Formats: sequence, C-alpha cells, structure tokens
Amino acid sequence: MQLEVLINPYARRQLLAIAEVTSDWIWLTDENDRFIYVSPRVYDHVRVRPEEFVGRTRSELRDSLGATGLPDIERRVADRLPFSNLQYGWVGSDNEEQFVELSGKPLWAKDESFAGYIGSGRCVTDLIKQQRALSQAHDQLQLRVETDALTGLYNREYFNNRINELCQDADSSFVLILADLDNFKTINDTYGHRAGDDVLVEFSQRLRSVARAGDIVCRLGGDEFAILAPACEGVAAGQSMATRLLDLQRRPIVTGETTLIISSSIGIHGVSAGCKDREVHSLFHKADLALYRAKALGRSKAVCFDAEVESTHKKENELLVELDSAIKSDQIEAVFQPIVDTKSQRVVGVEALARWQRRNGEPVSPMVFIPLAEQHGLISSLGRLILKQAAIASTKICGSIYVSINVSVSQLGSGDFARQFAELTSEYGAPASRFCLEVTESVCIGENSAILSELSELQEMGAKVVLDDFGAGHSSLFYLQKFSFAKIKLDRAFLNDVDNDRARAILSSISALAEAMGTPVVAEGVETSHQHNIICGDGIAEAQGYLFHRPMPLAKLLPTISNVNRDRQVALASPTDCFAQATN
Ligand code: C2E
Ligand code: CA
Ligand code: CA
Repeated sequence: MQLEVLINPYARRQLLAIAEVTSDWIWLTDENDRFIYVSPRVYDHVRVRPEEFVGRTRSELRDSLGATGLPDIERRVADRLPFSNLQYGWVGSDNEEQFVELSGKPLWAKDESFAGYIGSGRCVTDLIKQQRALSQAHDQLQLRVETDALTGLYNREYFNNRINELCQDADSSFVLILADLDNFKTINDTYGHRAGDDVLVEFSQRLRSVARAGDIVCRLGGDEFAILAPACEGVAAGQSMATRLLDLQRRPIVTGETTLIISSSIGIHGVSAGCKDREVHSLFHKADLALYRAKALGRSKAVCFDAEVESTHKKENELLVELDSAIKSDQIEAVFQPIVDTKSQRVVGVEALARWQRRNGEPVSPMVFIPLAEQHGLISSLGRLILKQAAIASTKICGSIYVSINVSVSQLGSGDFARQFAELTSEYGAPASRFCLEVTESVCIGENSAILSELSELQEMGAKVVLDDFGAGHSSLFYLQKFSFAKIKLDRAFLNDVDNDRARAILSSISALAEAMGTPVVAEGVETSHQHNIICGDGIAEAQGYLFHRPMPLAKLLPTISNVNRDRQVALASPTDCFAQATN
C-alpha cells in the first residue's frame, strides 16, 4: 500500500510537517510490515538513508542488521497491538553498538481492515551507554561499600545486613562460623605488616575455598573472619568447612623471604528453622563463646556452641569475678617450694607459687586461675601481689638463698613489670640480685623485641632470668642463643619419662649442652630417688620436687630451711651464716 493510499492528502501534509520539525524520525509500514515511509531524520540518528528502508520488511531489516530486541516489536505487530519505547540494538559497521527506541500504533482502513503501522523512532545509544556506565559505577561503588579492600571479602556491614535478613525469616536455617587467626599480632609485630597482609589474604582465599557457592564469606575486621552459610540445618556443614579449613593450615604461607605456618580457632553456631533465638547480637555471642572455648582448648580447634559451652562460660565468668575480687582484696597467697642442690640437698633457692581458695574454701589450681588472669588482664595485679610477698620473704630467708618468681609473658613487654619490680624490691629493701625471674620460652617466640629488652633491663638491675618449663613447648635449643638465661628449668615431663630410652637420651644431651654453654640446669618434679639418681648422674646442679619438699607457707618454710641446711651442714661440715637469719 502506498502512503497516498493509506492516508489522505491533508493528513499526509500534516505528517510530513511533523516529520520535519520533530527530532525523532517518523515511519509507516503497510499491512505486510513493509516500510512505505521513513522520514529523512532517520539518517541523523542511525546513518541509514530513508530509501534503504522503504520497500523492505521489518524482519528483512532485522536480519540484515543482526539486531536484537526486535522480536518484541514483531510480536506486538503480529497481534496488531500498539507499542511504545521498545528498544533494539545492533553492532554497526564501525563495530560500535547502536540502540534505537521505537513506538508504534496500528492503522485501520475505512473498512476496518488492518492497514499497517505508524510510529516514531529515536537513537538511544548515548543514553544506554550512559546508563550502562552509571550502573557499572554503581556496582563498583556497591562493591566498595560492601567489601573489604584488602581481601575482597564482604565486610561487617554487608554481613550484618545479610544475617539480619535471615534472622527475620522465622523459617530460615543457617550456620554462623567465626574464625580467628591465632597469634596474628605476633606475626604482624615480628614480620611486619606486609607479611601480616599476605597472611590475611591467603587466609581469605582458604575461607573462600572451603565455603559453598552462596555462602557469605566476610572479614569482620582485623584477623576476625566469618562465614554465613544459609539453608543449613544443624551444624554439620559448618563442621565440615571447619575441618577442611584446619586441614589447609598445614600448608605453609610464603611471604617475601619468610615461610609461615598459621593456625586459626573456629566457633560454630547453627540456627535451625523455627528456632526462637533470632537476635543477631545473641547469635554472634554464642558463636563467639564457641570460638573462645576453641582458643581455651589450645587453639587451632573448632568448637560448636552447645549447652556445655554456655555453662562452662558461665562458671568461668563466676570464677573470674571472684578472682578479680580476691586479687583486689589481697587474697592470693604465695607459698614457697625449696629448690635443693642435688648433691648436698641443701636448700639453695625457693620458688614462689600462687595459691587461691574460693569463698567456699575450695582451692583452685594455678593451672586454672593463672591462665584466666592472663586472658583477662589480671595477671599484672596478681603478679604484683606475689612479687610483694616474695620480696618480704626474701628479707627473712638466708641471704644466700635465691627467690624465684614466675613471670608470665603477658606481664612483659610494656615496661610495667620492670618498674613494678624495681619499686617493690626497693620498698622492701630486697636486692634485685636475690631474685630469679622464671619465664617460659614463649618470650622468645617471634623475637618480640619489647619483651627481650625488658628482660635485659631486669638483668641489668641484677635479677637472673631463668628459662622455665624447658621441654614442655617447642623446646627449641635455638632459643638458648636468643637470650642469655641464667638457668634452665627442665619440665617435669622429662622426669616422668626417665625410663623411656629416648627421653633419657634427650635429658642427658640437654644437660650436656647446657653444661657446655655454662648454663646450670634445675630439674623439676623430682618425686622418686630413682629420678634423683638419674639427674645426679647427668650432672644436673639443682632440683625441685615432692621428694625433697612440697610448696609451703613462709611460716613453715623458714624453720624447714633452717633445719635442712643445719643437718646438711653438719653432714658437709662447712660453716654458713644462713641459720641465724632463717630462724629469725
Ligand atoms: P611451674 O612454674 O612449673 O611450677 C612448678 C609446679 O610444679 C608447681 O605447681 C609445683 O607445685 C609443682 N610441683 C613441684 N614439685 C612437684 C613434683 O614433684 N611433682 C609434681 N607433680 N608437681 C610438682 P603449681 O603450684 O600448681 O603451679 C602451676 C603453675 O602455675 C606453675 O608451674 C606456674 O607456671 C604457674 N604459676 C604458679 N604461681 C604463679 C605466679 O605467681 N605467677 C605466674 N605467672 N605463674 C604462676
Ligand atoms: Ca616456675
Ligand atoms: Ca616449671
């Protein structure tokens, strides 16, 4: 059908006038969807002349352009329906994408038969490109807002939003996993922040690798990470992720020149469908308690929250509150265990050991309350109480007998302990040279310079620094080169095992090595004469153990030292001035 046939001369003039003034182009098709008119403006938009349209059907044009989006229009045309602002695009000869937007309306002849379409079109390439750029920028911004810049994992805010959504749906089930790197601060302090960053990035990749598709892996901050695993009933999925993560820990991380092995502690809490507790704060708290338990069990472990975790936490909290008040009211008492010369069995030193009885009279082992005090920042004030009692004791015990006190690694490094030590010893008129400070080899791990320099400061004051529990931990002989220890105390585990050939051989070689380095050895936990004979045979200078003396209060210690050393002196027939002071 011709344009002339389709619309009358008046309408045609009007159409051509509109076509001239409007910025869009006008098009007309006949009943076969073949273009019969396209206004010249089309060239401005798509660089195609109107003549190239006229005589061709829409589908012929579509095929020649390889256009996409046209089927929508074709469907509407087939149904004789109007359409507006439908887009289609194609790749032009210059390899650039082009987009146009078309609107159209069916035309009906006088006899009401379908006569074609009239419509307009415009190029929207720039608009679409702008929209795309805007949406890309938005995505990038969103990514920046939602993720952690270093690791690329989701950040805490995003994680909180997602867990909030899950909590609001009473039928949702999910597992919350919290993972904390063990000793990350030491890595950062020792090897620098670059190495710390490398560890965080590697750990993030490990977390991603154990998570399932759809799980949300997040860096909550610092060395704290989390996985939110939706659609999980029970904790099994969390446990299996934790197992795989702990397995991956064996793989070393190479950062610069250094190779590191890292470990993490993991707390897991499962929320099942219908579970009443859906407070985000409470769920984090439960997973956190499980994580805390994992750390208390010796780190590098995974623990699921359950009633036992909760009750252990409750009991520990009660104990902590009581310990805090006991420290504040001077209720931690020092007892003293004599250390003897292995040959003469004369008392040459004493070790101050902390004792605490709860309000109900129940004694608590230092193996329980010392770590508790360390974890909760109470060790410094507890240590001060023991140091004070040891300083007082030193003024009453014979001057040739040294007083040993245990110093936790967390008491060192801030300079506060050295200050406390100087203050208390001068207050009680006890010379620093009377004291041995027993530290464990953890003071050397990571070569923490602040700790080592505080120990040197204490040494300069005259105190002797002793390596305690040697053999209980890493037992690296390498540490003996790091710091010049005045003595080495062998952990009692060595003596427990003296009948084992290997342990015997180790005991002998450590004693030989220490002797070669000129460092005297003290054997701890000597309970039998057999053990005593062995250490004497190995040339170990001093010993401490139930075979000789148990820890005792100062009131009992003074006559004990006096009696023992008098008897032994008689045996050795060598004069000493100890007894006069000790019996005072
Ligand atoms: P430690 O420094 O290795 O102290 C020696 C421990 O061995 C003491 O346990 C002592 O009672 C025990 N012991 C001594 N001889 C024998 C023996 O023949 N057989 C056996 N089985 N055990 C023996 P205690 O008093 O329970 O102290 C345990 C740990 O608590 C100490 O181990 C020390 O690490 C820590 N500790 C105690 N008092 C203090 C303190 O004032 N400050 C700090 N930081 N730690 C302390
Ligand atoms: Ca000790
Ligand atoms: Ca020890």
